[in-house]
Amino acid sequence: MQTNIAVIGAGLAGLTLASQLRGVADVTVFEKSRGLGGRMAERRRSGYRFDHGAQYFTARDPAFLALTEETMRLGATALWPVEIDDRRPGATKSEDRRFVGAPGMNGLARAIGQDLDIRCTTEISALRKESGRWLLTDKTDAPSGPFDWVISTAPAPQTARLLPPEFSGADRLAQVRMSGCFTLMIGLDRQPLLEAAAIRAHHPVVGWIALNSSKPGREGPPCLVIHSRNDWADAHMDEDRNWIAHELLAGVAELTGENYSDAPHRDLHRWRYANVEKPLGAPFLIDAELGLAAAGDWCLGGRVECAFQSAQHLSRAVAETLRET
Ligand SMILES: Cc1cc2nc3c(=O)[nH]c(=O)nc-3n(C[C@H](O)[C@H](O)[C@H](O)COP(=O)(O)OP(=O)(O)OC[C@H]3O[C@@H](n4cnc5c(N)ncnc54)[C@H](O)[C@@H]3O)c2cc1C
Repeated sequence: MQTNIAVIGAGLAGLTLASQLRGVADVTVFEKSRGLGGRMAERRRSGYRFDHGAQYFTARDPAFLALTEETMRLGATALWPVEIDDRRPGATKSEDRRFVGAPGMNGLARAIGQDLDIRCTTEISALRKESGRWLLTDKTDAPSGPFDWVISTAPAPQTARLLPPEFSGADRLAQVRMSGCFTLMIGLDRQPLLEAAAIRAHHPVVGWIALNSSKPGREGPPCLVIHSRNDWADAHMDEDRNWIAHELLAGVAELTGENYSDAPHRDLHRWRYANVEKPLGAPFLIDAELGLAAAGDWCLGGRVECAFQSAQHLSRAVAETLRET
């Protein structure tokens, strides 16, 4: 009988796991949002296209580079030939090529997820074992299953809340630290006067400014994506959103000399878990006895490529375990 696996999360880690395990198991992906990609996110509003999560990704790992090149041929990934103005003290120039999903950052996830069984708008709230197999409950109390394995790729603090305390990786999972970020999206009616299409700032509030419309395939009027610093976001996570936007705009004005407070479009997104401050230090967690595992960027570091690597290592480990049983 075919093994049934539930994967929680349709970000890059969850989709990579599902596509790599579907040869050896029946895999169902559960995703709380409406779309795929997780933090590789795109928001379209009033004709503007914003990548409001990950800005670009690098591909040093040979398997991830192969996927990047394959999806480039399909038009789901593109090269962003950007010169980043890195203003942090001691910053060195990176020779890495920078890739983006196309036509939006979620393009890569959409390409991987194409033929997978994915249940969107389904937020898993609890797992329980019945007759040796896992049943999942979503926010509407609808049950799904049974499954032989459950793999969570939600950010570490959310995975820690979902998996039961008897999970053998629970203590190590609790050690992982993630930080937040605020993203301010600004739609313009003129080209902004920026010194570079991307600025990595050295500023107490603002961490990153990008002319998102400079990325390949982002047709439409000019628009900016501004990220706060992670430590500043953590210190102000529950503050008034208008105040947050005001502080970010003030920071951008200091850094660029440009005042965008009257821009025709403005939107703010709060990421409670954006970056990885203290990773697990291992590619995944697995408890073969319980049929539980966890993967995601938080295992190795807060980058797209780390999410892929974590998922790839875990899919090999699960496939190996299935072969042995
Ligand atoms: C603001 C920001 C900027 C970034 N910039 C960069 C960058 O420039 N370069 C780079 O390489 N990386 C960057 N990153 C990090 C990068 O986005 C992540 O490393 C990567 O996307 C993580 O993928 P993942 O699959 O591990 O997790 P996610 O993408 O977080 O996927 C997890 C998924 O699980 C879903 N989920 C959570 N809980 C549940 C539940 N209970 N039920 C169902 N679904 C659930 C979530 O909705 C999400 O879709 C950035 C991230 C942010 C937020």
